[in-house]
Amino acid sequence: MDLISIDDLSDAQIDRILSGGLRWFEFNRSGSHGHDKRLADKIVFNLFYENSTRTAMSFATATHRLGASSIALSVEHSSVKKGETLEDTARTLDAMHPDVIVIRHRENGAPNVVAGIANAPVINAGDGTNEHPTQALLDALTLMVRCEGLEGLKVAICGDIRHSRVARSNAKLLPRLGAEVRLAGPPPLMPEHAPALSIDEAIEGADVVMMLRVQRERLEEDLGDAPGEFLRRYGLTAGRLATAAPNALVMHPGPMNRGVEIADDIADDPERSLITTQVAMGVCVRMACLELVLGEA
Ligand code: ASP
Repeated sequence: MDLISIDDLSDAQIDRILSGGLRWFEFNRSGSHGHDKRLADKIVFNLFYENSTRTAMSFATATHRLGASSIALSVEHSSVKKGETLEDTARTLDAMHPDVIVIRHRENGAPNVVAGIANAPVINAGDGTNEHPTQALLDALTLMVRCEGLEGLKVAICGDIRHSRVARSNAKLLPRLGAEVRLAGPPPLMPEHAPALSIDEAIEGADVVMMLRVQRERLEEDLGDAPGEFLRRYGLTAGRLATAAPNALVMHPGPMNRGVEIADDIADDPERSLITTQVAMGVCVRMACLELVLGEA
């Protein structure tokens, strides 16, 4: 099976990924790193057409921890730079018989194109502004571990919603797990026809505040904001967080624009910030996703 959108997953498969992720979390915590070889001899191709630190490294780590091999295409040095199409790249790589293909691409729908050609299961590691399903799954696992369940949790997702594949996948996944999701951002960074909820309204009383990066690389126009202005008007500051539920938790998929969508002291708050926990859960969830698409879960 392919994992391209949250919509590809049944409730039972979501449950399998999250319980598998939880099992890998305990396993990794027990210090047995890398000793499970259940995917030995499998080959995972990583195609990252867009920059990545967390997702690329955690897929590679997850692959290694399961005893499989991860091979990354260096897009900058590949025939993509000679004009080879995505379809031809997919045909070429498929002829090498990888067991899984992980792809991140700037175009919405690119993973579907590859999945239509390749025999191997395809995992979407983020396509354009469309979806980033493994990020939403790791966010759900982070909340499961920290909050012991998502039922009734009020999650405010704030910032550059318009360009955020993380927001789109989370808006699909978290309500299926019982959470209430509130999306809010500055008007130019909201999708057309989105309900007009201000960031202050979204954060008020929220149990979790997930801030999103301003994706200036996808913006055609300059936001025209003076230094510090975005943080003051729309960012997560101590003042705004004080209006959330007592001890509300803070998330961010990374990379952060410190001092833009999130203040330093909030990002680094050891009690309330789950940002590094999210990274750790990324490895666990991706181990479970690799197992699932290979029919091993
Ligand atoms: N790392 C996330 C993504 O690839 C969020 C971001 O880049 O802002 O979508």
